[in-house]
Amino acid sequence: EDKDWSFMVRVRAPAGRLTPAQWLALDALADSHADGTLRLTTRQGVQFHGIARRDLKGSIAAIHHALLTTLAACGDVVRNVVTTAAPRVDAIHARLEAEAFRLSSELLPRSRAHHQIFLGEEESPLVEEEPLYGPTYLPRKFKIALAHPSDNTPDVLANDLGFLALTEGDALTGWIVTVGGGMGMTHNKPATYPRLADAICVIGPDDVLETAKAVVRLSRDHGDRTDRKHARLKYVVAERGVDWVRDRLSADLGRALPPAPALPRLQVPELLGWHAQGNGRLWLGLPIAAGRVAGDLRVALRHVIGRFDARPIVTAQQDLLLADIAPDDRGTVEATLRAHGVTLAEDLTPLARWALACVALPTCGQSLAEGERVRAPIVADVEAVLARHGLAGERISLRLTGCPNGCARPYAGDIGVVGRAPGLYTLFVGGDFEGTRLSFQLADKVPQAAIAATLEPVVAAWARDRQAGEGFGDFCTRIGADAARALLAARVAA
Ligand code: SF4
Repeated sequence: EDKDWSFMVRVRAPAGRLTPAQWLALDALADSHADGTLRLTTRQGVQFHGIARRDLKGSIAAIHHALLTTLAACGDVVRNVVTTAAPRVDAIHARLEAEAFRLSSELLPRSRAHHQIFLGEEESPLVEEEPLYGPTYLPRKFKIALAHPSDNTPDVLANDLGFLALTEGDALTGWIVTVGGGMGMTHNKPATYPRLADAICVIGPDDVLETAKAVVRLSRDHGDRTDRKHARLKYVVAERGVDWVRDRLSADLGRALPPAPALPRLQVPELLGWHAQGNGRLWLGLPIAAGRVAGDLRVALRHVIGRFDARPIVTAQQDLLLADIAPDDRGTVEATLRAHGVTLAEDLTPLARWALACVALPTCGQSLAEGERVRAPIVADVEAVLARHGLAGERISLRLTGCPNGCARPYAGDIGVVGRAPGLYTLFVGGDFEGTRLSFQLADKVPQAAIAATLEPVVAAWARDRQAGEGFGDFCTRIGADAARALLAARVAA
């Protein structure tokens, strides 16, 4: 019997960049083909949910006609390439954006199958060749991010491959190449684990593409094809070591690659609110809860983007920047958004501003528990705990996912909340705001309604014993996992 299938369709948006016309086309598609919403992803893409099977080909064709594509937004290939969303007009930001676009197009599979299946292209009798992916593609998905150390909003170290720009003044002097990051794990399978990438080597300013191809080949040839849960490049790096990886890449590229220096300090700047771009124009960063653009928010964005030609950019925090706004339009743009009841960054606590949540139920087939739909109550509960201890204004990151695959990078923030079973979550703490340290497990099988109460003894200790300027995750790591868990046990005993 034929079922009433519905699909998720993911649009590839390199560096999160869209034109106003592309946004308006996607907005129209949300009504004509999907569930009336757009969803901004943690990899700067856009998803449609609830596309009926009969509408699938039409949706993909319409996306293609808006000069966008779904090609390689999923699958065992290089996924959407991410970098900072900030539309700052300077040489380094221009370079980051240009490299993200170049990697995105150069690393696409060459197959015409997508065009033949979805876009009506004639089948060709010629045998297709995949010069990079080969006949069997990659063992698993492959994620790339680029950043300057002053803006690690893309969480470079959570990616299979990262490029950190080295600069002197305005000049790019090279890149630190990081390899072997990835968030996914499976509950009760210690052989699977989240991992942050290692710094492998330094390359010249113009060597990004050839290095990326070499790292893709490394994954292709050495990733574990016998077990998909052990197939990501991070396991190769963990098991073979940094020197082996550098030697392999050196051999592939035909020259000795110098080891990387110690990683520079990474920072995560605020991209929300009003900012000067550096060319006389402004951008406005809007918080989008769980990346879901629906209802009045969608209408307001349609008006602002259509009327002011504001350029939308999706951030790796599921938020949206509206770029290229004339300073004279600032008041009208803000009034338009306010008139539609849109929440601006200044209305939110830092916790709410920075909280991420994956889709999870009801549309993600992997989900074990709710994600997006319980973001608001979990954030409100934790906000109340922070407020009780005088910490409401603290910058703290909370990342919620419906399963341990970790699409919202829950093991790299201050607090990770990971779906375990319906209504139950595993809590992680001890990562840092800058994405340079993994968290540890604080408690398991915590009911949703008890998440904030479980965190409270640790939050109370942070309020009492923190060092000057110490973040929540930094505090948890300083006292250690045993001491943090002992705080929970003491509360239960009391
Ligand atoms: Fe789905 Fe799990 Fe990813 Fe959430 S983290 S979107 S539940 S696969």
